[in-house]
Amino acid sequence: MKFGTKTIHAGLEPDPSTGAIMTPIFQTSTYVQAAPGDHKGYEYSRTHNPTRHALENNLAALENGKYGLCFGSGMAAIDCLLKLLLPGDEVISTSDLYGGSYRLFTKVYAKYGIKFHFVPMADLSTITALANSNTKLIWVETPTNPMMNIIDIAGAAAIAKQYNAMLAVDNTFATPYLQTPLDLGADVVMHSVTKYLGGHSDVVMGALVAKDDALAEKLYFLQNAAGAVPGPQDCFLVLRGIKTLHIRMQRHCENGRIIAEWLKKQPKVAKVNWPGFPEHPNHEVAKKQMRDFGGMVSFTLKENTIAAANQVLTKTHLFALAESLGGVESLIGHPATMTHASIPKEEREKTGVLDSLIRLSVGIEDVDDLIADLEAALG
Ligand SMILES: *Cc1c(COP(=O)(O)O)cnc(C)c1O
Repeated sequence: MKFGTKTIHAGLEPDPSTGAIMTPIFQTSTYVQAAPGDHKGYEYSRTHNPTRHALENNLAALENGKYGLCFGSGMAAIDCLLKLLLPGDEVISTSDLYGGSYRLFTKVYAKYGIKFHFVPMADLSTITALANSNTKLIWVETPTNPMMNIIDIAGAAAIAKQYNAMLAVDNTFATPYLQTPLDLGADVVMHSVTKYLGGHSDVVMGALVAKDDALAEKLYFLQNAAGAVPGPQDCFLVLRGIKTLHIRMQRHCENGRIIAEWLKKQPKVAKVNWPGFPEHPNHEVAKKQMRDFGGMVSFTLKENTIAAANQVLTKTHLFALAESLGGVESLIGHPATMTHASIPKEEREKTGVLDSLIRLSVGIEDVDDLIADLEAALG
């Protein structure tokens, strides 16, 4: 089955009791048993729920994996994976990383004796330099937020194998429409389903997808033991959202490309970060592992001040000033004062998060209207 067919059909069957073509919202916590232990595969909804189960199977198919697990948020999905680790274990992570992941690593799990290293993985030798027999997890986010660096997943997988470590990829920005990390040697894929998979800015959810039986068994154990599962209504909304994932992503990519190229020609813009440009430092890797370049674009202004950025950020009408990304509507954000505000100025500037850096989540509106909106704001 090809991707666009999978989004609509994979893991899904009409409801056997009614023929309902859409997976019903099984809004139930428990299931009647005919005799003790004699049930239909469902006992209690923390452990199993048919609506969630349909979504988990669909996600597994989209990522070319075998097992899908859904959580109440992207952070809860990462939290589940980290619970596989023990004191003394080491993690090597992308330095240019989602702020919530950085917070969970450094403020929660570091307390339990797990050691985290943050390196700019676009250069894979930064991973090799730190890898040792205690390295149990390599955590990759690509494209990175907000600088749109690209990390070579197959290259990172080869290093992980050499050290018997697990490779996990946060695939939130790319989605399985653009890249399928399990095909490139990753062990686990993580999603903030909140973003492109849900796609309509109306749900918070996370997911993990794995291929290996033994690893999936451990993850299912933790999912049930800790219990950070999403409700059936949210699962229904995401199932509905995913049915148009391929069409939405196609338009996000088209609009992203047109806007990145337009921004590059604007006299007030200093630099545009988008992996589709031939001069992007990781363009070749992006071309190799991604099927297109996505709808996330960031750029800096020649006048590199917060005031200059604010001029633009407060003047757009279609681009709404908000955190998050991946919905049908376009969003504009200011990493220095929003997502990356907790990182000291010197630290964030080292990774390129300058005062004037503006991040766009380009939506699927008519691109002419989006450009007119940006033109007026930059004007
Ligand atoms: C939003 C996001 C997360 C966290 O997901 P939540 O659903 O907000 O908990 C993790 N990684 C990336 C790249 C994200 O954009």
